[in-house]
Amino acid sequence: MDKIKMTTPLVEMDGDEMTRILWQMIKDELLLPYIDLKTEYYDLGLKKRNETNDQITIDSANATKKYGVAVKCATITPNAARMEEYDLKEMWKSPNGTIRAILDGTVFRAPIVVNNIKPNVRSWKKPITIARHAYGDVYKSVEIDVPGSGTAKLVFEGEDGKVLEETIHEFDGPGVLQGQHNIDKSIESFARSCFNYALDTKQDLWFATKDTISKKYDHTFKDIFQEIFDNEFKTRFDEAGIVYFYTLVDDAVARVMKSEGGYIWACKNYDGDVMSDMVSSAFGSLAMMTSVLCSPDGYFEYEAAHGTVQRHYYKHLNGEETSTNSVATIFAWTGALKKRGELDGINELIDFANKLEKACIDTIEAGKMTKDLALLTDEKNPTVLNSRDFIVAVRETLEGLL
Ligand code: NAP
Ligand code: MG
Repeated sequence: MDKIKMTTPLVEMDGDEMTRILWQMIKDELLLPYIDLKTEYYDLGLKKRNETNDQITIDSANATKKYGVAVKCATITPNAARMEEYDLKEMWKSPNGTIRAILDGTVFRAPIVVNNIKPNVRSWKKPITIARHAYGDVYKSVEIDVPGSGTAKLVFEGEDGKVLEETIHEFDGPGVLQGQHNIDKSIESFARSCFNYALDTKQDLWFATKDTISKKYDHTFKDIFQEIFDNEFKTRFDEAGIVYFYTLVDDAVARVMKSEGGYIWACKNYDGDVMSDMVSSAFGSLAMMTSVLCSPDGYFEYEAAHGTVQRHYYKHLNGEETSTNSVATIFAWTGALKKRGELDGINELIDFANKLEKACIDTIEAGKMTKDLALLTDEKNPTVLNSRDFIVAVRETLEGLL
């Protein structure tokens, strides 16, 4: 079989620890034998980030702006222990944070569903994708420990000298205070990313806030979404046969629990933080989640939702066998290859990526899986494979599909 040709390179962001090991195995076993793989390689491993004063991360994000599509391996976000372990010059920032700040946008996370691992919520038949706004609200708030009696005020001083003022509360004893903000521009790009992703994946979009209580703050989110939908997306949603649906956040939670799934749930920052953990644990495991950053300018960065699986890496270094699940990392590659195929009109690439995804699912559904899934499956006697043997089993299934 001739290898599939690519026209535009993918931006390849290599990473750390166990996922870096899986990264190479995936390329060697599942990609390079079938694709004339074109990538522009950036090593985001912590060693290289330290050597380049983190310039490599910035370069990789700018390359994503140039080419449009990136695939990223999990990376270490340094903490005090890593400073010592890697002899770092500085406690470098989270690469995901740096990349997100350059590309802007929204992260979409969806479970990878297999028939022998049942979601904890019985009615869920299709994946639920969570879209989390990644700017502001409580994550950028300022707080005061109120020591005792006094008046708390919310004050805005305009550049033109105009002052807006509200009394928050007349305290007659100690308490707490918090000031939150968001900006229209960020909410607008969040809305556009969600509408575009819904069109891209042909799924309905749900959005919910508490606008009945928060008549200015949350209401602004609701209004911005509605305005952008009506002006820019309504016709395309109608043509695609999908729906935009707004409701109150407590109503959304109740409906989600009774739904079949199969839609995108856009969440404000805090709601997304909480609800994505709920949805992912109810569906099974972080190693069975896809994750993609979609920028409002149409750039895409695909990654796994989990970290570098440090504990397994140390076992691996000790020569012990590991059983690390590579599915989320494989799906990061297939997501990126499919998007590249779509943008460049290479159907073979799309077809190959779809078959590779099916090969992962078929292999697990045939009872062959890594240890994390063996603990969750209702399969009576699953075959537990080590990290490499699982990838080899996927390759065997893939050969049958090609
Ligand atoms: P983690 O790498 O996600 O692993 C936590 C635990 O979850 C593992 O010890 C393992 O449990 C299980 N697990 C996660 N992924 C798995 C997989 N693919 N297959 C099997 N089991 C899996 O989180 P962490 O240990 O808290 O973080 C390690 C490093 O990753 C940190 O340096 C952190 O900064 C980084 N991180 C990076 C990203 C990213 O780049 N997107 C995201 C999160 C964390 P058992 O040990 O019980 O088997
Ligand atoms: Mg969380």
